Amino acid sequence: MRFDILTLFPEMFAGVFEASIIGRARERGHAEIVLHNIRDYAAGKHRVTDDTPFGGGGGMIMKPDPIFNAVEQILGLEIPFEGYGSLAPVGVEKPPIILLTPQGRVFSQAMARELALQPRLMLLCGRYEGIDERVRQYLVTDEISIGDYVLSGGEIPTMVLVDTLIRLIPGVLGDEAATSKDSHSNGLLEYPHYTRPADYRGHPIPEILLSGHHAKLEIWRRQESLARTLARRPDLLAKADLSQADHAFLEN
Ligand code: SAM
Repeated sequence: MRFDILTLFPEMFAGVFEASIIGRARERGHAEIVLHNIRDYAAGKHRVTDDTPFGGGGGMIMKPDPIFNAVEQILGLEIPFEGYGSLAPVGVEKPPIILLTPQGRVFSQAMARELALQPRLMLLCGRYEGIDERVRQYLVTDEISIGDYVLSGGEIPTMVLVDTLIRLIPGVLGDEAATSKDSHSNGLLEYPHYTRPADYRGHPIPEILLSGHHAKLEIWRRQESLARTLARRPDLLAKADLSQADHAFLEN
């Protein structure tokens, strides 16, 4: 999967994209991440990428031209008057262009699973007060928020999105089944985990974990998962896929 990231601060990504799972996924060819500095696509000696807002008000707005230029040059196409969305996909590589914005649909594991099916994504990081609205109208195909709060730029939200997607690419994690058991993958929070020692400072692990009884262990895990979701995120249960046994357990 390829990610093209458009940002004014490519240097912010260095550590996060080099270490651990993302670093390994890149080394092994599961993921390709290309950082594009929007400033490189700005015209003039000073390569200005922002300007004051029409109508006044504080803050600066990212200009549309460097962003349109960047997309056109990276993809080798011309964006028609009607906008990027009107381009026929036939014969043109037309990856989704996602704007990270607090005004977008709120990111979730279900959205991550859908996006991870794409061979290529372009991710646009806003800064300052945001971007000129015409970028949103005529270039962007999707708007994603990482939550109902405001960060100073789209770089950290982009890291969140890329990290979430990369671990879903087949072959990236050692244990392929791990992501299907993760919290939010099946509508529930995951059950608790323990490792050695079995007794830590007088706090023993649940006995079932030492029993070697796999069927009972699976039931225990499912019930822990249900109990935890009920206690912490009861809102999730309404949408979860629950069996009769799950309902009976929850009612108890
Ligand atoms: N004035 C904008 C508003 O109220 O919608 C917020 C601008 S914010 C200071 C600057 C940039 O940070 C945004 O353009 C966006 O790219 C990014 N950003 C901030 N919060 C975000 C969030 N919750 N999710 C995704 N991106 C976010």
